[in-house]
Amino acid sequence: RTNRAEVVFDAISENEAFARIFVAGFIMPLDPTLEEVNEIKTIVSEAVTNSIVHGYEDSFGQIKLRVEYVGNKVTVKIRDYGKGIPNTEKAKEIFFTTKPDEERSGMGLTIMEAFADGFTISSSLGKGTEIKVVK
Ligand code: ATP
Ligand code: MG
Repeated sequence: RTNRAEVVFDAISENEAFARIFVAGFIMPLDPTLEEVNEIKTIVSEAVTNSIVHGYEDSFGQIKLRVEYVGNKVTVKIRDYGKGIPNTEKAKEIFFTTKPDEERSGMGLTIMEAFADGFTISSSLGKGTEIKVVK
């Protein structure tokens, strides 16, 4: 049987820790290893940061975070309603960043993909971005 949870919060950096802890707390019944929890928290952090600094670069909005698991398979979806990504394949490339001058290294999506067993980005310009991660 699937167990699900969903939360919507303002896209501000104070809420990054909340997002990480929400997901980590929800998957506790699966008894994950510390490494698994840390990897999922890192994925959530990177995705939420991206929504805040890129998606809502020149607007303000919300982030929707959904978590579900069935058996030991966890799926996390992080969605924003911001500006979207013109080319998701390009965005996924290691060291690709549209903000090289702001201490961004272009590693976020690469790290997320490396830690995930399944990783999908759906994005449409002006409508927003959804990251789906299976672990
Ligand atoms: P780092 O994550 O290392 O701080 P970064 O955020 O630029 O740097 P990635 O997380 O890999 O690197 O993202 C690559 C690029 O994809 C970003 O520079 C940005 O242009 C785009 N991007 C990623 N997520 C979003 C999003 N939610 N909305 C709009 N653009 C995004
Ligand atoms: Mg990033």
